[in-house]
Amino acid sequence: MSIGGHRLKEWIPIAAWTACGPLFCVLVALGYNIMTFAGFPSEIRVRAALAAIIVPFGLATPFFFYFSIKLRELASANRQLSLLAATDGLTNCLNRTAFTALVEARLEALVPQGDHVHGALLVIDADNFKQINDRFGHHNGDIALTLIARAIRSSVRAGDNVGRLGGEEFGVFLPVVDRYGAETVAERLRRAVEKLAFVADGHHHQLTVSVGGVVFDRRTGFEELFRLADERLYAAKNEGRNTVRLIGCATSGAGFAILDA
Ligand code: GH3
Ligand code: MG
Ligand code: MG
Repeated sequence: MSIGGHRLKEWIPIAAWTACGPLFCVLVALGYNIMTFAGFPSEIRVRAALAAIIVPFGLATPFFFYFSIKLRELASANRQLSLLAATDGLTNCLNRTAFTALVEARLEALVPQGDHVHGALLVIDADNFKQINDRFGHHNGDIALTLIARAIRSSVRAGDNVGRLGGEEFGVFLPVVDRYGAETVAERLRRAVEKLAFVADGHHHQLTVSVGGVVFDRRTGFEELFRLADERLYAAKNEGRNTVRLIGCATSGAGFAILDA
């Protein structure tokens, strides 16, 4: 429910500021007047007390109401600005900087299960994308990228993160997945792109992506994970594209083992 452009939930702090701000002013004024007029006859003290209630209440209520609304609007504009600064304008995914920072933070915050922390990083690159631009123009290339981004986002869970790492390359962070879970997601998103209906200049063009990924079971930094996932992406490209190649931590934690999905 919305009143005057603000949701009901947003009115709670506005109401709190509008009630508590004037109350505080009244208490200060009342305390001051009680001390100042302590030796005066009771009629004057009552009048002074009434003045200490009515004047600050009358002045402070509209003041606090107005400024609490403006503060909320400022906070909302700041939230939207931070979102814009973190979002890639074309695909609506996180941009590289925001994605990298978020994954770094999530890697540090992962809660160990036993002695291990689990998860995966996938790097996804559109296949032969230059041909799409050359054949159908940059505008259609942008449409294809938007479709690919949407297919990737719809293939992951709400708690996973998708970022555009640059050009026609995307990253997906899957926290708390094991090898099977990571393979399933990687295959699902590869197939989702393969099934896209991309029509440009009246021609249907098959879009595909190659996926490289690393499945980890010990705490590792983003740079290391990205390097390993990117190596597997390179392998997927060399092995014919439209395919998934993953590498995983050996369960002993002694190294990484190739997992071909
Ligand atoms: P590969 O399968 O080896 O990845 O081949 P590729 O053609 O996809 O790779 P390459 O690196 O040769 O070309 C990437 C192309 O992606 C070239 C570049 O113009 C295009 N591209 C990158 N960013 C954008 C974008 O934002 N919009 C459009 N339309 N094209 C983009
Ligand atoms: Mg490419
Ligand atoms: Mg590329």
